[in-house]
This record gives sequence, structure tokens and C-alpha cells, in this order.
Amino acid sequence: MISRRSLVGCLAVILVAFSTSALAQSAAIPSPKSVLGFAPGDDRTIADWSQITSYFEKLDRASDRVLVQDLGQSTLKRPVIVALISARENILALAKYKDIQQQLADPRKISGNMPRERLFADGKVVVAISCSIHSTEIVASQMSMQFAYELATAQDADSREILENTIILLIPSPNPDGIDIVANWYRKTLGTPYEGREPPELYHHYAGHDDNRDWFMLNLKETQLITRLLWHEWFPQIVYDVHQQGSNGSRFFIPPFYDPPNPNISPLLLRQVGLIGHKVAADLQAAGFKGVLTNALYDTWWHGGFRTAPYFHNSIGILSEAASARLMTPATVTPEQLARSTTRGMRNATDAATNFPDPWPAGTWRPRDVMEMEMIASRAILLMAAKFRADYLRNFYELGRKNIAPTENKGDAIAYLIPAGQARDESVAKMIGTLIDQGVEVWRLDRELHVVLSPRALVRTNSPTEKLGAYKVGGPLMEMREVPLGSYIVFLNQPQRTNVVALFEPQIYPNRLTALGEAERPYDVAGWTLPLQMGLDAPAVVEIRESDNERKLTLLKDGNQVRADLALTLKKGDESPIKNPLKQPVRVGIYKSWVGNMDEGWTRFVFDTFNVPYTSIRDTDFRQGSLNSKFDAIVLPSQSAVQIVNGHVEGTFPNEFTGGLAEAGLKNLKDFVNNGGMLICFDNACDLAIKQFSLPLRNALEGVKTSDFYCPGSVVALEVDNKNPIATTLPATLPAYFINSSAFTATADANVRVIARYAKENVLMSGWLLGEDKLRGQIALAEVGVGKGRIVLFGFRPQHRGQAWGTLPLIWNVLSSATASSSE
Ligand SMILES: [Zn+2]
Repeated sequence: MISRRSLVGCLAVILVAFSTSALAQSAAIPSPKSVLGFAPGDDRTIADWSQITSYFEKLDRASDRVLVQDLGQSTLKRPVIVALISARENILALAKYKDIQQQLADPRKISGNMPRERLFADGKVVVAISCSIHSTEIVASQMSMQFAYELATAQDADSREILENTIILLIPSPNPDGIDIVANWYRKTLGTPYEGREPPELYHHYAGHDDNRDWFMLNLKETQLITRLLWHEWFPQIVYDVHQQGSNGSRFFIPPFYDPPNPNISPLLLRQVGLIGHKVAADLQAAGFKGVLTNALYDTWWHGGFRTAPYFHNSIGILSEAASARLMTPATVTPEQLARSTTRGMRNATDAATNFPDPWPAGTWRPRDVMEMEMIASRAILLMAAKFRADYLRNFYELGRKNIAPTENKGDAIAYLIPAGQARDESVAKMIGTLIDQGVEVWRLDRELHVVLSPRALVRTNSPTEKLGAYKVGGPLMEMREVPLGSYIVFLNQPQRTNVVALFEPQIYPNRLTALGEAERPYDVAGWTLPLQMGLDAPAVVEIRESDNERKLTLLKDGNQVRADLALTLKKGDESPIKNPLKQPVRVGIYKSWVGNMDEGWTRFVFDTFNVPYTSIRDTDFRQGSLNSKFDAIVLPSQSAVQIVNGHVEGTFPNEFTGGLAEAGLKNLKDFVNNGGMLICFDNACDLAIKQFSLPLRNALEGVKTSDFYCPGSVVALEVDNKNPIATTLPATLPAYFINSSAFTATADANVRVIARYAKENVLMSGWLLGEDKLRGQIALAEVGVGKGRIVLFGFRPQHRGQAWGTLPLIWNVLSSATASSSE
């Protein structure tokens, strides 16, 4: 409905085209205020998703500069939309510009009759602007309507230049469900003591804040739809992701970013990111805004964000972080709060510095302030794109061209291989499908190949000259392995070379310490190597013996092709094709706290994806008891014991959302286990079980200083006891995800069965691990008998962000053993 212009819409376009005066045109275009009854950004107002989409629908009908497209449905079935905004003549020729973009993105497609100089001369810079992926960072979603309206009606020279030279993909929010979660909650609490508080639930059904950690994994509907728009259709040269940060620090962050840079990102991109960032900062300063910060906190190391994915598609990714109000309610910020606000690259928010030359003096902070800064930033970015149009197109093209050049040195990797026969079809289908869905080229072997392989593993070095700490990537070459047909191969000489490298190679995060010798926290995780997380073998290929003519390879056209190869084609609708891996039906309860917990959301995600039935259990269910009559197994996703027991403190939220399990719930949980139930704890939640059940274990990492041990999101090696029925299907060494996680020592051997330990050497597989000795040989997964029941403790995150598919079988095996024991 939104995607096609209606008859009325066409009529409006014709009428506007015939009118001569600019005034008549803007009079025909409805302002957000005229539609909503308030201006976006007004204190204590909020437009929900149906208001936002219906405004864009009206704008589409009224303006020949705006075309709104429906990209598909969100997780909870709301429309995900994009507004394409440009000059009328560009909107009428979108197919032509899309074609130019696709040629620039893949220089192999440039044919003789359309030489590249013609493309640079004719093309437009495509700029994607995405608002409020994090739904409590709500202002940008409201701003999107005003910004679109201004572009649709503007007649000034700068705006005309923008409209002529750029095509804007404006995404009012890539998480529509969250906009409604926040809007409904905000309206419900307006005028109550809870006005301006964040809602007591995840603002994405599965991912919450992690909806912006999914851009290489593509677990979420929204990520899939927008990835298709950006990296299969439009290949934007610039992607601007509009966020908000806390209330008490700088008023606005804009790049350049902080250290460390990801070594796979082209320096040319980092320079262009910096240039645009400084333009934004300068324009904000010129407009009189104080408190703008650059070169701080946020870095380019991690992979998987809306603005980080573009770096691996040869595009510029810009992030801004405006200080938050209290949702749409003004906040008051004191000088003391600003003075206490400190972060990497900013001593505090009161002292001037080169990267923070004009501190804000404290006071009232309104949604309108956020909105104005975001509008200025958006315009600054578009103006840069318009004024240096050909430069952006040429740089984008050149990065792609460099990537398709063959590998220079003999012995360097030329491809990665995913050999057939790994007995993990669902993981292979997921990983290959995910790569293809983000535009990576993957080939299937339709005849055997003979290759020289180089396994990719971190090797400890004692060399102090090693650039990134004490590791390098290496391993002995494996000569002449015959690779069976049905295997998959990912060549490096493709436009997305850096994406392939960044996903397949182990990460080596540099050892970054503060002056006090403590670990300096990275912005997000340090390592994410996809085949390791998926539990798949994916060595690098350094040589193929067969000549090009002797090879028989098929380029896979889309992700469903590999899913079809493995009989795991996505079914119509939402149903996942993966067969429930449990050996018998188990009544599973997953604890769902009113303190929104992303690990809980991702737990539901993997259960839904693997079609394992479960029931969410609330605090009140625990307090009511008779848990054994309802459940065979209860899962506590990673969460601190204090949060689980106490929940939200009374008075901070309406009563129905406060208090956790409480004493009554804890007693019922103990009864559940003593009566034969199975309790499964992930990572932080183990602490609750150890203390409440007085288990003969302790977390060896509790209270350890970050100067002695630090591991902020890395892949580590487990040694698995595969004589234990829970681990029989798994290899002896298994990569697992560790994110400030747990490691146990047994204080008594009675009743403790160790299923997996952290490796005794070479623990780090990807990321950053400071103080390896603290982890070596410690217990990673154990089960303890309690009364008639059992408690299973996962020290690590077996389902981290829906990415750690390699360790999911442990969850399924544990659950499969649940009924077995309770029926004994
Ligand atoms: Zn955010």
C-alpha cells in the first residue's frame, strides 16, 4: 500500500508539477504538525509507528521528491519502511541510479559502453540515514518526519544542491516494534512518577539493545530487510546511524572515533569518516551548539553495528550520539553530573579539550535540542555528499577495485573453505546463507579440488615487537588436501574482501592498558570470528592445484540456495526449518525478568529458531510455586543474582514491575530442584545457584582486578569431556563465547561432574584475553546433583547474541537429559 503511488498520489504529483509558485507546492505538502497535531520534538509528545508511517504515506502522495517503500514486516509484523528522497528528476530515474550504484559497487560489472568516468559524472551519492534503532533513543524517529518535510519543501540553494546530487534513503526506524513499545509506555506513564523512564522490557522482541549487534549475523527480520536494501540494491556511499547516549556527558558525539581502529578497515574510509565528522562538528559549533565531542569512547574495532557494517562494504559509516532527554520529557543536568561524567578520550564533561573545545554549561536539556542537533548533522553530511559527489563515487569504486585484485604474495590466503561433511548442516546453512544475504560471494564445489590449506589459529609469540600484543595468526600448511564436492568456497578477490577477512580471521585485540595498568574497556566485543562461533572448520586456502578450466564451481545466487542444498529452506511465514533437536519432549521454562535482559531475549531466539518449545516464567510464577508440576527444566539466562532476586526496586516502576523472585520465589526454586527438577544457569546467573544452593564451587574470577584478568567478548577454547553423555556429539576442543564470564573451581569433588574446562593452554582463539593463567584448566561447564534434581552451570554464554551456534548442542543435550533423570 505504501510502496505504490495511489491514483490520488499521481494526481497530486501532476497538480504540483503544474503549479508555478514554490508557495503553492509547499502548501500542498502537509507538515508533520498539521498531521500529528504537534510538532515533532515538542516536549511530552510522541508519535507512534502508525502515525509515523501514515505521515510518510501522506508525504509520498503529496511530494514528487519523496517515494516511500515498504520493505517487509518486522519481527512483530509492523511495516519496515524507507523514504527515498531526492530531486524530482532523480526520483523518476531511480532505476538508472540504482544500476550505476551496482556497477560502482562491483567494478567487474562495468562494461565498455559505460566507462567509469561516465559513472562518476552521472551517478548520485546515495546516503542512508537511519533513526532510532535503539527505541529509547526516540528523538530521531520523530525528527525523521520533520527532516523529510523540510527536504520535500525546501527551495534554498543548499537544499537544491543536496536534492540534485544525492539520493537519500531515510529509515524512520529499523525497529518499528520498539517505537511502539516506547510510545505506548511513555503515554501510559505520562504525568505519573514514572514519566520519562525506560520501559521495563526489551525494546526489540529478541534483541533489545543488541538489535545493533546483528549486522553481520542477520538473525533479525529487520536486519535482513535493511541489509537487502543497502547491500543488494542501493550500496550507499555513506550510512549515518543516529543514536543518543546518556544524559550527563557530552551533548553530542560525532567521529573521528577512538582507538583502536579495526585493521581491516581501509585508511581511506577512516579519513573520510573523520572529514565528515569534523564538518558536522563545525556546523554545530557555527549554529551555537555547545558540548560537541569527537575522538572519544566509540571505536571502529567491533563488527556488527549499523554504522560498522558499511566499512566492510567499502562505504563510510557515521555515528552520532546526542545526549538524551528523558524520552520526550526534558531532563535537568547539573554541573556536578557533568563533572562526574568521564570516558575514554574525555576527562570529564566540564573541561575544555582539543576534541571538546566548548563544554555545555549544564541546565535543561530538551528533546528539541536533540532534534535540532540531529537535523544539523544530517544536513552537514548531505551537503558534504552533494559538494564532493564525484569524490565519494570514485573512492567507493576504487576500494572495490582494489579488493578484486588477485592476492599478491604466494603463500597468502586466496580463499576460505567450508568443507562438506561437518555434521552441522544447520550451522553451515546459517553461516553460508548469512554471508550471501549480506552480499558476499560464495561458490559451491561441484567437483573435488586439491588445495593447500592454512588453518587459521592464534599462536602465542614471545616477541615484544609483535604489533598487536602477544599473538599472531599462523599454523602449519596442510599440503594437497582433497576437498569433497558439496563444499563451499569464499574467494578473497571480491568487492567485499575486507568483510570476508574480518569474519573468517581470528581477531587480535591490542593489549590496551590504562596508566594504572588496568584493562581499557573496548566499546563492544574484542573478537567474533564467525566460523569459530558457529563451531565450523573454515581453513584458509593458499593454493588450488586445478587450473581455472579444470574447476567446477557454482556461484550461489541467494542464501536460500544453500539452505535448499542442505534441505533447510526457510519455510513460508516465520517457521524455522530446523528440527527440534531434543530427544524427547521436555517442559522448559525460561526466566523472564522485568529488568530487560538481552541474554534472555537471545535465549528465546535460539529456542524459537530450533523449534524447542518453552514457557517464559515471570517473578510471580516463581513466587506462586508448584514449579515441578509445570516444568522439567528451568533456564536462568545470564543475569546478576541481585537483579534476579530483587528485580526493580520498589517505587522506581509501577508495582507490577518491581521485586524479583524474592524469598518466596527462591524457596520455590529450591523446592523445584530438590524435588527432581533441573536448573540450568548461564554465566552470571550461576552466581545465584552457587550461593543459594551452597554448591561446592566458586567463581575463580570473582573480584579479580582487570589488571590481572580481562576478557571482554572473545572466543576461547574449551576441552570437552565427550565421554559425558551431554558432550558425546562434540569435538574434544570446542570454541566458546566468553564475555566477562565465569570460571569455576570445585571446593569439594562430591556431586560435581565436570563436562568442560577452559583449555590448559592456547585458551584464546579470537579477541582479547589478559591473564590467561586465571582461566587455564578452570571449570567451564559442570553439573551438580542437588536433592533429587540437578543444577547445570554454564560459565560462558552458550547462545551469545544468537551467534554461538557451535555451543548450542550443549544446551540441547543438557535439556534432552532432563526428563531422563526426572523419570528415573
Ligand atoms: Zn544507541
